Amino acid sequence: MHTITVKFGGTSLASASQIRKAAEIIRSDPARRFVVASAPGKRTKDDIKVTDLLYRCYNEATDGNDFSATLEKIRGRFQDIITELEVDFDLDSEIEKLREHLKTAPNADYMASRGEYLNSKIIAAFLGFPFVDAAEVVRFRADGKLDEAYTFRTLSARLIAMDQAVIPGFYGALPDGTVKTFSRGGSDVTGAIVARASVSEIYENWTDVSGMLSADPRIVDSPRVIDYITYTELRELSYMGASVLHEDAVFPVRKAGIPINIRNTNRPDDPGTMIVASLPASVGRRVITGIAGKKGFSSIHIEKSMMNSEVGFVAKLLKIFASCGLSFEHCPSGIDTISVVINTDSFNAHREEILHRIRTDLEPDVVSVEDNLALIAVVGQGMVYSKGTAARVFSALYEADVNIRMIDQGSSELNIIVSVEERDFEHALRSIYAAMEGLMK
Ligand code: ASP
Repeated sequence: MHTITVKFGGTSLASASQIRKAAEIIRSDPARRFVVASAPGKRTKDDIKVTDLLYRCYNEATDGNDFSATLEKIRGRFQDIITELEVDFDLDSEIEKLREHLKTAPNADYMASRGEYLNSKIIAAFLGFPFVDAAEVVRFRADGKLDEAYTFRTLSARLIAMDQAVIPGFYGALPDGTVKTFSRGGSDVTGAIVARASVSEIYENWTDVSGMLSADPRIVDSPRVIDYITYTELRELSYMGASVLHEDAVFPVRKAGIPINIRNTNRPDDPGTMIVASLPASVGRRVITGIAGKKGFSSIHIEKSMMNSEVGFVAKLLKIFASCGLSFEHCPSGIDTISVVINTDSFNAHREEILHRIRTDLEPDVVSVEDNLALIAVVGQGMVYSKGTAARVFSALYEADVNIRMIDQGSSELNIIVSVEERDFEHALRSIYAAMEGLMK
């Protein structure tokens, strides 16, 4: 039997009309057997996600405030869905359970998880699919990490006996049965776990965009949709701020070689983005996959004559950062100079200590810090086989009159990273995009 796991995000299930669209997608292909659902998200830009209302309710209860208005809002969101979908569902008793929970020993994760729980039960009733409670099949260890062995064993055994199921995203349970959630956006992770446990051919992640974009649309006008991207390229772009999936969602399916397809519930005919282990031959000649960037970096610059012959200098330098629990982004070096590029917020927490230790432990000739830097990554596996990519990036920046502060290319030749001043960031990104767009086809 063909199997596809479909996960629908909050905007795809925010109202009865959105749920109808999702149901149509599910019913249009019998292979779409396992459905992972988020809590109802925003119906409009100014709306509030049900998950946020649940956290608010929890905070009101623990602060000793009246939570009844917020609980009523939550009830209203679900009531509208139930009424419009005309499903038979005893919402009042579920809301009473929540009220009791809030009055006795409220638990933030339990409260937050009820958005997914209730929405999935309603959707299961509407589709006529059985409901599987994630608390019974997704297990966390006592240290809070996913218990992979238990989860995959239990979930596989459960799903193998079923033709179809709706499973709530975002939560599971600790060994003692207490509900625990993933971090925000965690239904993506549940989707990946279900796809792997059910040995799905594909993990479809339905959202409100037609795939991953090759640049941030707030900066670049109508960037191209990426048709195929490898897991590795995705990681590079996500790390630099391009967000499309929860970062922990890749690894369960990647291990099993299951591709992820990002699709748009509001435009189901759009093919979306395929996230795969290796690119198909049809896109094999593409040089650049996407461009992403972030502000908020600092560079600590160190100079010392004869640094190159001082054995262990770099090790001592990096140990200072490690002992403060800090990881750095880049560490470009010259013969007698070296810089450490690091996220400014993390650096600031230990700034004086680090600078003091660099001065005393390493006795450099010069130490200086430059703040307000941005990093831009140009990512594409095709770079390895093509000439002139770096030249294009640098001449685009030259023509845009942007000063490059640092250049780095990972040894995998998967990306070129440049650092520019924050005030040049948007302009630099747009200029690079314009110069590289032709290489994205
Ligand atoms: N509802 C949760 C959140 O808002 C989880 C999810 O949608 O993935 O973060």
